[in-house]
Amino acid sequence: MDLRHAADLIEWDERVYMPPGGVSVHGEMSAALRRLAHEKFTSAEVGDALTASTAEVADVDPDSTPARLVAVIGRDHARATRVPADFVAEQAAAVSAAQHTWAEARASSNFALFAPHLQKVVDLKRRYVAFFPPAEHPYDVLLDDYEPGMKTAEVKRLFDALRQRQVAIIQQVAARPAPPAAFLSASYSESEIWRFAVDVVSAFGFDWSRGRQDKSLHPFATGIGANDVRITTRWVDGQPLALLFGTMHETGHALYEQGVGDEHQRTPLEGGTSLGVHESQSRLWENMVGRSRPFWDHFFPRLQAACPGPLNGVSAAEFYAAINRVQPTLIRVEADEATYNLHIMLRVELELALIEGSLRVADLPDAWNARMNEYLGLTPPNAATGVLQDIHWAAGLFGYFATYTLGNVIAAQLWERFGATHPNRDADIRRGDFSVLLTWLRTELHQHGRKFEPTEIVERITGLPPSPEPYLRYLEQKYVIERLT
Ligand code: ZN
Repeated sequence: MDLRHAADLIEWDERVYMPPGGVSVHGEMSAALRRLAHEKFTSAEVGDALTASTAEVADVDPDSTPARLVAVIGRDHARATRVPADFVAEQAAAVSAAQHTWAEARASSNFALFAPHLQKVVDLKRRYVAFFPPAEHPYDVLLDDYEPGMKTAEVKRLFDALRQRQVAIIQQVAARPAPPAAFLSASYSESEIWRFAVDVVSAFGFDWSRGRQDKSLHPFATGIGANDVRITTRWVDGQPLALLFGTMHETGHALYEQGVGDEHQRTPLEGGTSLGVHESQSRLWENMVGRSRPFWDHFFPRLQAACPGPLNGVSAAEFYAAINRVQPTLIRVEADEATYNLHIMLRVELELALIEGSLRVADLPDAWNARMNEYLGLTPPNAATGVLQDIHWAAGLFGYFATYTLGNVIAAQLWERFGATHPNRDADIRRGDFSVLLTWLRTELHQHGRKFEPTEIVERITGLPPSPEPYLRYLEQKYVIERLT
């Protein structure tokens, strides 16, 4: 764990402070530490210790920390030892070349240039799956890297339930006039927004004695254990409030990391249980809290005082409607809360078909455009704004996209559960008091770290596995019932 933490710190530095000349020395340092950590973890000693401890915990409560610790180490160990080192090296070289060509192909909007590389990555993913025991669906193995225990069938069931109703909600909203929002892209002071964002996340409960915030090209959060959790944000020209919502988002990730119990520190149970559950925390604070009416009842007068120029004469209601406006876009990273999932569904459906072999790489652009038109009523004018927009497939991240939608779904499920058991939820937020919410999340979720699998922990907290209904109810309440215009 110490070696992994050291590599995490070097990788953070790479993205935040490293001068451009440091690329190779940083690459060598983190590769050496990762290799050492991998060698130690896959050694015969760890294998023997694992066998011995599995026998030792055979009779203890299967939900106890020692039993879960042994189970999680066993799962991690099996994944780390099944894939041969020369395959890992071959894959690393292939995705490095694929990402390089992807950038070129995107710049010239030329899918044919990227296609052979994508074919190579898909073939590698199929070979990767074959290192594991046969699953119900080959995609289960890929999904398991990000969502332990989650099955393709569950993801399909969830997406089938979401697709139609979510498209219907968006069509209803799109038929109404959009609320005015020019003031959102007016001229704001970066330092004022930064200060305001720091005040907001301090109120959320971000612990600055165990965390910090810096700037980076792409915002991210990293936990070097629970006592050193770092977030980054960025200033985007023309979208001044992206810094604020990005800070809330990364703080959601950070609060999860900071909340993991002391007993799990420096063990494989530290950190979050899956990418989807992690994303549920960022979405909950960014959207359910940070784009809610009670939140802005409290914070809008403060933002207005900090940024009087652009917000002069704007009411809290107008501001709330503007930050929640729905506008189908071709680009996933620019999508609003209501349309975002459809971008994800499209990608997950296509990558599933590629892995199954029911879709050929050559047919991918047409399949992409057809779904884009069906879900969002838009047709990309070129590959750069369509099939080539994301780096994930070039980077070999198959199985990753689904976690974004799971994050939205789980966030709404937790939010609904918290509201049902805490009738003062909105009144507390209207006073700027987030302590009851954070304490609840800490007790129910954060403290456990990786002890429980994603489906299991969601079921423990809400009584149900990840389910589409709370999320659809949330969207319908906000976008159809309240109407926002
Ligand atoms: Zn996130």
